[in-house]
Amino acid sequence: KNKGRNAYCYFTPSMQVMMEKHLHLTQDLHIAVTENQFIVHYQPIVDLNKNQIVKAEALIRWAHPVHGLVMPNEFISVAEETGLINDMGDWIFKQSAIQAKRWRQHDPDFQISVNKSPVQFHTHDNVHNHWTDYLKNMQLPGDCVVIEITEGLLLETATQVTEKLLHYRDCGIQVAIDDFGTGYSSLAYLKQLDIDYLKIDQSFTRNIASHTSDLALCEAIIVMAHKLGIKVIAEGIETPAQCELLIQAGCDYGQGYLFSKPVAAAEFETLLTPRVSADS
Ligand code: C2E
Ligand code: MG
Ligand code: MG
Ligand code: MG
Repeated sequence: KNKGRNAYCYFTPSMQVMMEKHLHLTQDLHIAVTENQFIVHYQPIVDLNKNQIVKAEALIRWAHPVHGLVMPNEFISVAEETGLINDMGDWIFKQSAIQAKRWRQHDPDFQISVNKSPVQFHTHDNVHNHWTDYLKNMQLPGDCVVIEITEGLLLETATQVTEKLLHYRDCGIQVAIDDFGTGYSSLAYLKQLDIDYLKIDQSFTRNIASHTSDLALCEAIIVMAHKLGIKVIAEGIETPAQCELLIQAGCDYGQGYLFSKPVAAAEFETLLTPRVSADS
């Protein structure tokens, strides 16, 4: 169709391979949801002033029976297309709430952040959200969870999204802007919505030690956020040098391979243990 009327092209073998791959992925993903083939990994988020793990981000993985562990970038878009992201998202939210309850016994302020795709905002929720009901039933306060959204979400159907975000806020659930600085949107939302955290995207932290412009951007984001009462989490910290520069810039929290890659819940607990035993 791109070639205009009366033009035709061959259906090439490579197109066929791609379509078959997509079809298999879609079929497998349906099975994965019914058979619950997903696991959650948790990546520590460190308070840079205290040098302590105070939060975790929940990241989904697919334990595929044939292909092994499949990473989210390979299936999230298909999950969004098919709407399966809704069931996956509910499941990961519940897992995270269960873990938050456990880890809060050691640290009453512990939070778990969960990624929420724009599709989940549009197709699933009503304003009276079942996530908030779930927390209530578990006798968990809203602020044990942080919902990570991307800037792009705030461009679309602004009022509908705003209403839902404000409803979360009223229930105590906090909101983080993920991959901050990579999306297209106006900064106006930062004052309209009661955002709790900005997560500086790893594309800025990656070269912070070698590119002065990246350092300048990180510093500016941190200053701006703090003036608005927003805390900053730097993503993708891999080296002590990057960490040191972010601490000097006043960054509140850090996340990245320097501290730990995302790990299963049991392994995450071993990361918490030294502190737990020191406290108790
Ligand atoms: P994200 O939310 O920005 O998550 C951070 C990603 O960066 C994770 O990749 C994490 O493993 C990776 N990462 C963390 N530290 C480092 C580091 O020091 N260096 C490098 N190079 N990478 C680091 P992951 O787990 O593959 O997830 C990719 C994306 O998939 C996530 O990006 C998020 O957008 C999406 N995703 C993951 N889980 C879920 C989910 O449950 N629901 C939804 N809707 N999206 C999810
Ligand atoms: Mg995230
Ligand atoms: Mg991110
Ligand atoms: Mg707030």
